[in-house]
Amino acid sequence: MDGDRVSGIRYPWAEPPAPGEAVEVTEGVLWMRLPLPMALDHVNIYALDDGEGWTVIDTGLSSNKTRRIWETLMGGPLKGKPITRVVVTHHHPDHVGNAGWFQSEHGAELVTSRTSWLFARMLTLDVQETWPQETLDFYRSAGMAPEVLNARMKDRPFNFADTVYPMPLGFARIKQGDVIRMGGRDWDVHMGNGHAPEHATFWSRDDNLVLSGDQILSSISPNLGVYATEPMADPVSAWLEACERLQTLARPDHLVLGGHKLPFSGLPLRMKQLIDNHHGALGRLLKHLDQPRAAADCFLPLFKRTIREGEYGLALVEAVAHVNHLYHIGAVTRTQRADGAWLYQRKG
Ligand SMILES: [Zn+2]
Repeated sequence: MDGDRVSGIRYPWAEPPAPGEAVEVTEGVLWMRLPLPMALDHVNIYALDDGEGWTVIDTGLSSNKTRRIWETLMGGPLKGKPITRVVVTHHHPDHVGNAGWFQSEHGAELVTSRTSWLFARMLTLDVQETWPQETLDFYRSAGMAPEVLNARMKDRPFNFADTVYPMPLGFARIKQGDVIRMGGRDWDVHMGNGHAPEHATFWSRDDNLVLSGDQILSSISPNLGVYATEPMADPVSAWLEACERLQTLARPDHLVLGGHKLPFSGLPLRMKQLIDNHHGALGRLLKHLDQPRAAADCFLPLFKRTIREGEYGLALVEAVAHVNHLYHIGAVTRTQRADGAWLYQRKG
């Protein structure tokens, strides 16, 4: 009776490392945390002992505060040994933020996927002092509430450069199928997708460790967002494809070290949940679209709770992702309202 036997999700550590301290996950692998100034208030970072120096996985948001914590970590748990290599799982600011600082100030090599590097460098250079028309059009097309849009327009737009340190030219590329040696282990590189394009994950050949970035998280579902850069993107399809592919690698004894929340085991079950969550959300959404509705009118069926002001932006880009998916698979039609919002309605 093997096959679909799945064990539960377990968390070997009930508590995360304190600021400036590390937890030794296993020989040569340290787990640390950096703060984030948002609802999700932390990002996990890892250091792998390469003998002469360290490889670090992800770097936190760029700020003087996080760099001070990095300096504390380097002088403390990292024992003054140099950080020679920085591996970035994906291009989001909480992961890539200090990579350029490690390159230019510490002489570290940056290792990441080509898409991650191109996005991170492009967005860091793309500084907008005022709101681009395309972004405003995108918000209107998603049905953003006028009071939310007006409030946003009063502030300077968010710029990657606000939270990502300048990135010098040059990186080392990793791609699907590569093997990389870090921390005395060989790791298979498998690319995820959907939360961020060409998101790197690492699967140890020598023990049970998986470095999963934000592709696989323990107790929260990674955000799948659509942005003005590609308004018709379908990250839900990309996500499901990647999760179904990674699911075939998952073992119950894997210890998964993700970008947020706690390390865990029980990966086969977690992969199933990560896939099922979106099928569930799509089913509820389709029911809700018996009437024509904009993406911004779909929060309740998608998230099953009221969205607070601070979560509105993430909720909106995720709602667009889900209506786009239903549109691409031919389950809904859409019409444009006079104010520019696309209204989606179930077929038949
Ligand atoms: Zn993240």
